[in-house]
Amino acid sequence: MKKIQMVDLKGQYEKIKEQVNTSVLEVIDTTSFINGPEVHAFQKELEDYLQVKHVIPCANGTDALQIAMMGLGLIPGDEVITADFTFAATVEVIALLQLTPVLVDVEPDTFNIDPNAIRRAITPKTKAIVPVHLFGQTANMDAIMEIAEEHDLFVIEDNAQAIGANFHSKGGAIRKTGAIGHVGSTSFFPSKNLGCYGDGGAIFTNDEALAHSIRGIVNHGMYERYHHDVVGVNSRLDSIQAAVLRAKLPNLDTYNKARQKAARKYSEALNDINGITVPYTENSDDTHVYHQYTIKIADGKRDALAQYLSKKDIPFGIYYPIPLHSQKAYKDERYNEADFPVTNQLVKEVISLPMHTELDEEQISYITGAIKDFFNQ
Ligand SMILES: *Cc1c(COP(=O)(O)O)cnc(C)c1O
Repeated sequence: MKKIQMVDLKGQYEKIKEQVNTSVLEVIDTTSFINGPEVHAFQKELEDYLQVKHVIPCANGTDALQIAMMGLGLIPGDEVITADFTFAATVEVIALLQLTPVLVDVEPDTFNIDPNAIRRAITPKTKAIVPVHLFGQTANMDAIMEIAEEHDLFVIEDNAQAIGANFHSKGGAIRKTGAIGHVGSTSFFPSKNLGCYGDGGAIFTNDEALAHSIRGIVNHGMYERYHHDVVGVNSRLDSIQAAVLRAKLPNLDTYNKARQKAARKYSEALNDINGITVPYTENSDDTHVYHQYTIKIADGKRDALAQYLSKKDIPFGIYYPIPLHSQKAYKDERYNEADFPVTNQLVKEVISLPMHTELDEEQISYITGAIKDFFNQ
């Protein structure tokens, strides 16, 4: 059996090696390292793939979120509602811009922001909602867009974990996550579903004026060379990373299907075990692209299982071990523990199993076999 890894970037690279090497060397040969033709071509190809009017590439997924918020003109004191159960980047940029983060609880089955909790958190100062499509699963965008419309709020989708996922709206329309709200962001961190070989990110929007504003912000607030109309940042996707992404984008659906297949195998094997809850999905399985395959372990057995997996040389992850509202940097008097029953429970129950495009059946059987042994001992 191949050694089991949490993420297998090397195995994936081997299959596209020739193409990646050729395009990367071409970039070096042309020395068009910044804003070269590769970046522009990737932007167009991603616009086509996502069916979104504007993609603005940038340096990483955290910048993408920050720049999206700057582009919307949010100002200090504006309240931005986001999920208590997510990676810290989401809340970090809100705080960094001196906006007021308002963390709310998530749903126990999808782990995504709970629309009812959003409603309860709205005040006259609320300006935006940031849903995160966590672990690759689409958040409830119908409910979120409805709330946003009712209260005149912006929706910024943090799509760092779900690129390629399809949201099926109640009306029957199918849309790519990240292209549904007013603006969306993603990360091309190497282990993400569409990862480059360094840092990278992008912002998406269908709003022409917002796209224009953001294109200036990523480039020092310049709309005309050496005319700085707004305070901007320096956030660029470099041409070498764009070349890697161009080689990988045509494979994204295949990559996501490989993740979905691995997830089905896991769930088939683990579904019957008492004490395990496998990931919930909507009827259609393209609503989840399994950035992580995350299960819940009942009865306080999560940490013992984690230890057992370590002994068997099976890697795992605990995403996330501490609710954001309990983190030193983000504590706030406005929060009550009673407002976060789900997150407080999830941090004790979740465990993520190895998930990547190269997992084979033998590895999955070994992992699920070990988990069964743990529950039978
Ligand atoms: C990875 C990630 C980010 C940040 O992306 P970087 O490219 O690492 O800056 C933001 N939000 C979520 C939910 C993520 O998973």
